[in-house]
Amino acid sequence: MVSRKISLLLASVFLLPIALPAQQTANAAKSKPKPRVIMVGVNGMELDIIRPLLLKGQMPNLARITEKGAYGKLRTVSGPNCPRVYTTLFTSTNPEEHGVTGFIVGGITANTHMLKEEPLWSMLSKGDVTVGMANVPATFPVMPVNGYMISGMLTRGKNCEDGVLCAPKLSEVSGGDAVYPAKMREELLKNVGDFYIDCERMPSAGDLKQHEGEVIDHWLAKVQTIRDQQTKLFDYLLASHPTDFTFLAQSCEDRTGHWLYPITPFNVGYNASVNGVRQSAFPDQYIAFDKVLGTILKHVDDNTYVVVVSDHGIKPLREFEEKDPHAHADHEKTTPVIAKHDFADGDDVPGSVFVMGPGVKHGFRIMGLAASVYDIAPTLLHIYGIEQPKQMRGRVLTEVFEGAENKVAASK
Ligand SMILES: [Zn+2]
Repeated sequence: MVSRKISLLLASVFLLPIALPAQQTANAAKSKPKPRVIMVGVNGMELDIIRPLLLKGQMPNLARITEKGAYGKLRTVSGPNCPRVYTTLFTSTNPEEHGVTGFIVGGITANTHMLKEEPLWSMLSKGDVTVGMANVPATFPVMPVNGYMISGMLTRGKNCEDGVLCAPKLSEVSGGDAVYPAKMREELLKNVGDFYIDCERMPSAGDLKQHEGEVIDHWLAKVQTIRDQQTKLFDYLLASHPTDFTFLAQSCEDRTGHWLYPITPFNVGYNASVNGVRQSAFPDQYIAFDKVLGTILKHVDDNTYVVVVSDHGIKPLREFEEKDPHAHADHEKTTPVIAKHDFADGDDVPGSVFVMGPGVKHGFRIMGLAASVYDIAPTLLHIYGIEQPKQMRGRVLTEVFEGAENKVAASK
């Protein structure tokens, strides 16, 4: 584990140019308008579930991106989970290099002090790109950016035990750890209201027993409340604090899939009293997500890039690789899970990417696993004309851009 002293030093190195005189920064920013990118992270989006919904017209906003843009599977890392993959996505380095190897690192909940590689938001900030981020996993405590940052999954607050996911509200996080700049916290509480920063934790086997239907419905209602709050937050941020690069994320879909994936009696772990109750609960999350996407797309014009990205998929249980009796009860280790994603072979649960914007091919499909989570940061830097640093392992996804008319993604 990196000591706090070293990580603070790293943080200051990452963000050195923000200390430039304000006038100089303002002049640089004024010189040329920057490309605008809105990236939306959906945790654990599973293509097997969303493809039928796209075909049936139940995700019209995502369908619009597939028609007007490029999309495909995204190869992920081995044993994928949110902090591990998101940090790979931020840094384009592998988990052992960037330091955020999972939910728990060195016995404590993963946090940004553990970052050993420079994240994308720091590079963009140094390049005078304005950055806005909200609810992105593994961004707690928030770090200074050329804009704002509101933390996401792994935020610690009131009643959070170490190593266990929890869902604190903004008002339950002390100090300025959840919002940068700290003064924005009051503004959000006033204009958006208090909101949950992460999705609700899953109910335990004990909670469910003999109250399955009731507990499931109550939990799903809470998930929708959280989604409604997030939608309001995103809408507010995009309207009141527009930035060149905006990264917003959702985490309720993944959480729902773990225990309410629509499995059949053939699958492992099937329990009719839980899995036979709300068979559409998981697909319904994506239909609900598509409405959030619709709200975001209202802030998008033809000159805006939209990138919807998922860190991994989720699949019903498979493989005999787990010896730990709690291995099939992940996240909180108490919920009977029927689907998961941290399989040793990450290719079993690829993520996905959907991109549209100036110079992006229409209706283009990335076949196989040609694109990976390592490629997102280099591609974003490329859009902003920032050179890819040598530690980055990914590549620019040049194939999604039109050749001749592509001004941003012309080969280097
Ligand atoms: Zn998960």
